[in-house]
Formats: sequence, structure tokens, C-alpha cells
Amino acid sequence: CGIFAYLNYHVPRSRREILEVLIKGLRRLEYRGYDSAGVGIDGGNSKEPESNSKSIHLIKQTGKVQALDEEIHRQQDVDLEVEFDVHLGIAHTRWATHGVPSPVNSHPQRSDKSNEFIVIHNGIITNYKDLKKFLESKGYEFESETDTETIAKLVKYMYDNRESDDITFATLVEQVTQQLVNASRVVVATGDASMQQEEGAFALVFKSVHFPGEAVGSRRGGPLLIGVRSDHRLSTDHIPILYRSSGKDKKSCNTLPRMDEDTCLFPVDEKAVEYYFASDASAVIEHTNRVIFLEDDDIAAVSSGRLSIHRIKRTAGDHPARAIQTLQME
Ligand code: GLU
Repeated sequence: CGIFAYLNYHVPRSRREILEVLIKGLRRLEYRGYDSAGVGIDGGNSKEPESNSKSIHLIKQTGKVQALDEEIHRQQDVDLEVEFDVHLGIAHTRWATHGVPSPVNSHPQRSDKSNEFIVIHNGIITNYKDLKKFLESKGYEFESETDTETIAKLVKYMYDNRESDDITFATLVEQVTQQLVNASRVVVATGDASMQQEEGAFALVFKSVHFPGEAVGSRRGGPLLIGVRSDHRLSTDHIPILYRSSGKDKKSCNTLPRMDEDTCLFPVDEKAVEYYFASDASAVIEHTNRVIFLEDDDIAAVSSGRLSIHRIKRTAGDHPARAIQTLQME
């Protein structure tokens, strides 16, 4: 029931430090309640940083965050002293809704045995059974009883069937989110309105060996925010929304320079920046007080150290930007 992710971009960190940040983040979310926890990190042990991101390593445990921390220090597969210049680690505390609390049902859930895509998820995907049936018919083999595993398989399905090799991680997640939203709506049509909101609610963060050092988060109903930390002043206090749908909507990067059609440059000059994705501000406040609260249907992507926020289409009443808020530190 808690999401936490940490991305360091040109801020060298050892695996030990990265795991400490992740565990601390999870501890801050413990009050939300949970029955198991897990982390997903880069798997290589080489002093050559490039090769470390070619695999993903998962560590999962039932019980307390403390039990996960102990498991991390017990396992021998990864070297805790290896240093990463750029790295994304994702972490989760689970409140089981589909499938008993167990290591295989814990998150991150994965696309396949070689962990090409992994995802952490809060909430419920109402009609995951139909999606699961579809994916099974395409040959995807499931290992857990969770609804979440469907999302991990779906993103791989989208990737395996991509129209172009230039597809971005943000676009993939956009496609997945769209499917999930459509899926939830089918069920939503039959129930009570307030229940529907809750049933279809989700917040997600994805990591992939195909997009090393990139994070993509999306939300509908479930809470998700992003903390930004940099030693320099941030270049703006607003992140403009990028719309994919039509040429005329593609316009504004507001005061920010544009990298390409889909990306405004934020932060502008920062070589070194750290991002935190979390369900709750209490998990990031010890690192930074600059946060962006995502809204329903936002897709937030960090790629090459730049944060961009995407929406599929502009609707009446949309704010064209997300404010970077400054939280009061205690
Ligand atoms: N429905 C998912 C599961 O049971 C996620 C639950 C949660 O929000 O922790 O695995």
C-alpha cells in the first residue's frame, strides 16, 4: 500500500546507499499498513557501470520492512559496494487484495522470468481477469495470483508488439494505462458510483532493462507525487503538461526549452539531479521539500535526467502545468 522509487542521475551512489534510501522510504510509508514488501534494482556487479543495468534484481519478503532489510543483507547475489552513476530503484509495501501475502505475490511484479519490465502498484485493477485471459492466450505465463502481474505482462506485450523501435517508455506506459482505464470502466458501468472510483484506482511505477535509468509513473485515483532534489536552483516552478494527441495541443513548454516534440527540458542545466516517486510526501521530505503532486491520468517520465509530464488529451478545465510546490520542513 506504499510506493517509493529513487532515481539518481549523475549522482554516484553505491548499491548499499540506494537500498538504504529505498528502505527508509518504505519505513516512512509503514503507517499505511502492509503485509509484505519488495525492491527492484539493477542487477549487475561489474565495476563497468554500463553492464549493471542489463539485468534487474528483485528482493521480496513477507512481513515487515525490517524483514525485507534483513533479507537484503542476507542475500549474496548482488555486491552492495558497486557504484552507480545513474540508477533507478523501485520499492513497495503491499496490502494484499488479490493473492495471499507471499514472496511471489509481493511487488515488484515482473513481465517474465528475465525481469524485462517490473512494476509496483497500489490499488486494484478491476477487470484484470479479462486482460489476463487475453495475455495467456498470447503465451504469457503467469506466476502470481495478483492483479498487478497483468500490468507487468501488458507492458511487455505492448513493447513486444511496438510499432516503432523509437517508442519511448512514457508512450508505452501511456498505452498500458489507457488499457487499464478502459478495462476498469467496463466494470464500473454496473456498480455504485463511489465504489467504482475506488475499485478502478491505481498508482504505478515502472522500471525496465530496455530503458535503463528511466522511471515512468502513472496514476488514477491512487496518490503519487515526485520529489526533486538538486544542488542548483530549479529552473522553473511549473512543469508544463505535454499532450500527445494533436499537433495544436503539442505547443507549450511555457518558459522551458524544448528537447523534442514530446519533451520539455526540466531541469534545464542540471547534470546532477535526484528524483523520488512516493505515495506520500512524508517519504521524501527528508531528501527534498520540492514536490510535484500528480493528477489523475498524468504520466510522469524521467529520461536522461529530465522530468516530463504527459497526458493523452487536453480536456476542458485542465491545468496546463503542474506546480512544483515547496513543502514546509519541520
Ligand atoms: N492489488 C494489488 C495486490 O494485491 C496491490 C495491492 C496494494 O495496493 O498494495 O497485489
